[in-house]
Amino acid sequence: MPLGSHRMKHFPIFLNVEGRRIVVTGGGDAAIAKLRLLFKTEAEIVVYAADPAPEVLAWAKAGRLTLHQRPLAAGDARGAALVYGAAEDAAEDARVARIARDEDALINIVDNLHDSAFITPAIVDRDPVIVAIGTEGAAPVLARKIKADLEERLSPVLGTLTRIGKAFRHAADVLPMGRKRRDFWAAYYDREGPRAFAEGGKSALRPTLERLLDRHLNDADREGHVAIVGAGPGDPELLTLKARRLLDEADVVIHDGLVTPEILELARREATLISVAKEGFGPSTPQEEINRLIVEHGLAGVQVVRLKGGDPGVFGRLDEEIEALEAAGVSWSLVPGLTSGAVAAAAVGQGLTKRGRNASVRILTGHDMKGFADHDWRSLAQDGEVAAIYMGKKSARFIQGRLLMHGAAPETPVTIVENVSRPDQRVLPATLATLPQAVADVPGPAILLYGLAPRAVAQSIDNLKEAAQ
Ligand code: SAH
Repeated sequence: MPLGSHRMKHFPIFLNVEGRRIVVTGGGDAAIAKLRLLFKTEAEIVVYAADPAPEVLAWAKAGRLTLHQRPLAAGDARGAALVYGAAEDAAEDARVARIARDEDALINIVDNLHDSAFITPAIVDRDPVIVAIGTEGAAPVLARKIKADLEERLSPVLGTLTRIGKAFRHAADVLPMGRKRRDFWAAYYDREGPRAFAEGGKSALRPTLERLLDRHLNDADREGHVAIVGAGPGDPELLTLKARRLLDEADVVIHDGLVTPEILELARREATLISVAKEGFGPSTPQEEINRLIVEHGLAGVQVVRLKGGDPGVFGRLDEEIEALEAAGVSWSLVPGLTSGAVAAAAVGQGLTKRGRNASVRILTGHDMKGFADHDWRSLAQDGEVAAIYMGKKSARFIQGRLLMHGAAPETPVTIVENVSRPDQRVLPATLATLPQAVADVPGPAILLYGLAPRAVAQSIDNLKEAAQ
């Protein structure tokens, strides 16, 4: 929340009411609803109602509250932690509010935000885990919806897990602070605890904690691990769920220049971010240095995410990094990502392949095309060929020359997609003839989609062709 622009009128706190007095005035539906909520607390509950409903009488009889069958009078609110005006009668509630204020007790009048000193939030109760939801009276329906969502999300046994876990905290303090302790508790709350409860109930939790602690203690020099992860072309919503989870667990994130700030934002707050940008105007990091870095951090026993733009296996020097990790004996795993070429095709609304047009598609880098054999150019120059060309801006003129020389039509579409999936994405329709001029004005990373026109353009070309026949 930007400081200064929005400020809370109501500051949320958790008030200790153990053994303290909470006063409720009124004995009808509004009072009953509040009483049900207040019974969840350890407070002493006192009700003032001249004409209480049968439920209230029954609760009084059962000793759950103290009932005075008369209106609240001066002196009754003194020392009370909270006072609820629930008479559902404006004049009576206002009178109660005055007494409460005179006697320094916090007052809430049911359904009257303006005259209340505090409001009661919607509550999700997994005591000792309690979620309070408030909208400052702006959107009670929304508060209820959020409550319903959380009720579904939070395991009904979370409270039990937490109580048993709390009693074990001292024992778990033998684990060093930080990562180790966090891992232990995460394993308990996320996996082992709920599983043990489902199988053996509450009494299974303590032995589970003991076993788990044993395991985490003996695993003293836990191995580091390097996950090589594809970040996709930039839009955080195009990350895989795996990438998202690994970022959330990472100690160190070593990332390319192509990875967007929005994605780095998702790394665990405590994670160290290391940039190994290779292009652009910043200092470039040689591949040997990157290899050295990932090995060094992997050997340090931490969880490393080596985050690469797009898919790690597409022009990502993936094999060199894997070889370095293997040579050093560091454990590694690979999580693919969406490659920018595929997402560029989506941006122009075309399939990378299409029945009757192209049954294959090439992934090419403009860098290596100087070493292209003549037969490669010849086949690429055929009608209907499609290629996603990476790093093709600098070699655009060279590509154009070779393809034309091998018989490609000058009007073959080449669509430039710059900053794929980012807020500044641009789709620039061009042809083989206009390609060098078109790329001149493209500062960001770009994919050249050879043989693909944006859908709208492609359709009008087809229409023209048909009209000409
Ligand atoms: N592994 C990456 C490619 C790395 S090579 C992938 O799978 O996408 C770097 C080249 O990829 C850039 O020169 C550019 O051609 C292309 N590229 C990467 N991200 C891009 C993006 N968001 N928009 C356009 N092109 C991108």
